[in-house]
Amino acid sequence: MADDRREELEKLLKRQRDAFTASRPESMAMRKDRIKRAMALLKEHAENLCKAMSADFGNRAVEQSMLTDIAGTVGAGKHALKNMDKWAKPDKRPVQFPLGLLGAKAEVRYEPKGVIGILSPWNFPVNLAFSPLMQVLAAGNRAMIKPSEFTERTSLLMAELVEEYFTPDEVAVVTGGPEVAAAFSSLPFDHLVFTGSTETGRRVMQAAAENLVPVTLELGGKSPVVLGRSADFEKAGERIALGKMMNAGQICLSPDYMYVPEEKQDEAIAGVSNGVANLYPTLLENDDYASIVSDRHFERLQGLVEDAREQGAEVIEVNPGGEDFSNANQRKMPLNIIKNVHDDMKVMQEEIFGPILPVKTYKAVDQAVDYINEHDRPLGLYYFGDDKDEQERVLTRTISGGVTTNDVIFHVSMEDLPFGGVGPSGIGSYHAIEGFREFSHARAVYHQPKIDIAKLGGFKPPYGKATEKAAAGMMK
Ligand code: NAD
Repeated sequence: MADDRREELEKLLKRQRDAFTASRPESMAMRKDRIKRAMALLKEHAENLCKAMSADFGNRAVEQSMLTDIAGTVGAGKHALKNMDKWAKPDKRPVQFPLGLLGAKAEVRYEPKGVIGILSPWNFPVNLAFSPLMQVLAAGNRAMIKPSEFTERTSLLMAELVEEYFTPDEVAVVTGGPEVAAAFSSLPFDHLVFTGSTETGRRVMQAAAENLVPVTLELGGKSPVVLGRSADFEKAGERIALGKMMNAGQICLSPDYMYVPEEKQDEAIAGVSNGVANLYPTLLENDDYASIVSDRHFERLQGLVEDAREQGAEVIEVNPGGEDFSNANQRKMPLNIIKNVHDDMKVMQEEIFGPILPVKTYKAVDQAVDYINEHDRPLGLYYFGDDKDEQERVLTRTISGGVTTNDVIFHVSMEDLPFGGVGPSGIGSYHAIEGFREFSHARAVYHQPKIDIAKLGGFKPPYGKATEKAAAGMMK
C-alpha cells in the first residue's frame, strides 16, 4: 500500500485522539447528540442505503435491508440513548474493614477509551458498522470505520454521509481493500472491533498485538441446530427455513447444520422444505430472496455441494417453483439440503455462509452434544423441543457464544443480551451493558482518608510489631 495512504490513516487517528483528549471531560449530552446524528443519518438516507445494498448484492430486498440494517441499527441507537446514563454511572465498591469506617472510598468509573477502530464485513454492511458505533459513541469515544470492499457502493455512501453528519475528528469512514484493512488493523487504536471471518480475525488480532490494542472479535463458525425428539418438526422446519434463507444464508448466526433424531430425518427435512416453499414459492423471480454477494463466494458454495456429492452425500435441492438456475446469471442459489454427511467433506469443515444445510442424525442426543464439543465453539446454538430436561442437558454440556431455543438467530435481536462468540467464534461482546463496558475503561479509583492508613496498616518502615500484627490480622 502506498505510504501516503498509511500516513493519511495515521494522521486521521492522531487528529481524532487529539480532539478526544482536548475535549475531556465531555458531557453526556454531547455523546447523545452524536448518537442522534447517527440515527438521523440512517433514517434520512434509509432508502438510498437500502438501494446501494441491493446493487452491491445483485439483489437484496429493500424491505429486508430496512429491517436488518436500518431499523435494527436505529434500534441499537435508541437503546443506547435510553440506557447510557445508567450504564455510565460509577460503581461504588466496598473497601476492606475497617477502612470504610476511617473514611476510605472506592469506585469504578467507566471512562471512554479514546479512538476505536471498527472493521466491518459485507453481509450486513450498514448494521455491522453502525451498531457497534452506537455503543462506541455512548461510551464517549471517537471512531474510525473501515467497511467491506465487497459492498463498495454502500461503503462509499456511508463515507459520504458520515462526512455530512460528523466532523472527521468525531467519526470517519476509510474505504479500501484488504491492504487498507491490514494497515487499518495495525494502527495504535485504543480498541479495535472486528466483525468478519475467523481467519481474518486471527490476522487482525496479530496486527493489534503489535501495539497491544485490545480487540473485540465478532467472528463466525458453524452454528448447530439440535432438534430434540419432542420438537414440533413442522414448526421448527419453518423457523429454520426462515433463518437459513434470510440474506440467502449469509448471516454469521445462520443455522449451519442440523442434528436430528435418526428416525425423524425425513420429517425434519420435509419441515424445512415446506417452510422454504411457504416463504418463497419461487426464488429466481422473487425479489425477497437475496443473491450471493460475489462470484467467488457463489463458486465456493457450489464447490461445497459438489465436494459433498462426490464424497457420497445425497443432495436435495429445494426449488419450490421448479425454476432453472443453470443460466440465470443472478448468483441466486436454492437451498441444498445435504444428507449422509461426514467430516471429510468441506461442507462439514468450513462455515457455510450460504443456502446449504447439512443434516446429521443421532440415536441419543448426547451424540450431538459430543459432536459439538469435539468441534470449534460455535457462535450460536439452537435447540428445538419441549423437553426441558433435554434442553438443559444440551445447554449445560455445550459452550457457544449465545443460544436461542425453539427458534434460530433471535437472541441477537434482544437488545439487553450481550452478543459475541467464544474461542474461535469470537472474543468479547457488544450490545447491552456489556457492549458499553467493552468500549469503556473500568478505571479503579480509591480515595485515601486523612488518617495515616499506611502507619495503621504497618506498611511503614522500620518494620516491627505493628507490621507483624497487621499481617497476622489480614490472614485471620
Ligand atoms: P472478512 O473477514 O473477509 O472481512 C471483514 C473485514 O476485514 C473487511 O472489512 C475486510 O476489508 C477486512 N480485511 C480483509 N483482510 C484483512 C486483513 N488482512 N487484515 C485486516 N482486515 C482485513 O469477512 P467477510 O467475508 O466480509 O464476512 C463474512 C464473515 O464474517 C463470516 O465468517 C461471518 O460469520 C462473519 N460475521 C460475523 C459476525 C458476528 O457478529 N460475529 C457478523 C457478520 C459476519
